[in-house]
Order: sequence, then structure tokens, then C-alpha cells
Amino acid sequence: MWSIEDILSEVTAVSGQKTEGRILSYDLKFKPSKHGMIIEKITSISNKFNRPIATIIYFLKTELSSVVKHDAVSDQVILSTKASSVRLRGLFTKFIAEFITCNDCKKHDTILNNCLLTCTGCGAQRITKTQQ
Ligand SMILES: [Zn+2]
Repeated sequence: MWSIEDILSEVTAVSGQKTEGRILSYDLKFKPSKHGMIIEKITSISNKFNRPIATIIYFLKTELSSVVKHDAVSDQVILSTKASSVRLRGLFTKFIAEFITCNDCKKHDTILNNCLLTCTGCGAQRITKTQQ
């Protein structure tokens, strides 16, 4: 289990700039299942990221080339692949960098509309790499 804060310090290390915003201090919880991995409390992650669960699932499907299911009852995302916790953590780092972080001011107060990311802080806009 890692906190989002850990992930953000990695993002900071990569971009060389400090990040800040609402994402801080949330825990990602992964656990192995019979045939793959489970990401727990996806609703909280989705709320924290301010991105729909569908966007997170689409990203994971694309990155893992695997079946990714959302179980709303248990509030879990079920991956049909044995991705390691380290790999999943890396994917969340990538997700934050690509779909949440403003490239200009490095804050996370952004809005994603189709593939257009708009920063509510500095007003910068960019097109995200992966299409939704
Ligand atoms: Zn900005």
C-alpha cells in the first residue's frame, strides 16, 4: 500500500517541479485475486482524482491490454492480469501525470473534457496523450 503522496513525490522527481492539490494523502490499496489483481475503493480514488471511474478503467485497459471490470457493489476494479503492485503504482503515477496534472503550474485542479485538460488555476490547456 502506498499513499498518493508517495506517488506525487515520484511525479515531482520526474518533472522536477513540486506538485500540490487535492490528491494528497490518499491510500491506494491493491490485493491479489485468484486470476489477477483488485484495486479497492475505486469510488474514493475517482473522487480524489476528480475523474470518472470509467476514465480510470479505460486507461488501465489500454495500459495493461487486459480485461478490467468495475464491480460497483464491492467498489473494486478487477484486473484479469497479474500486474504487480509496483506496476500498478507506476500506472497511477502515469495517470496523474497525463490526465490530472497541469503541465504549466503542476497543480491538480484541472478539468478533463474529452481529451482536453484545462487547469482551473492558471488556465493552461493541453491535449491528453491517450484519447478517451
Ligand atoms: Zn495550471
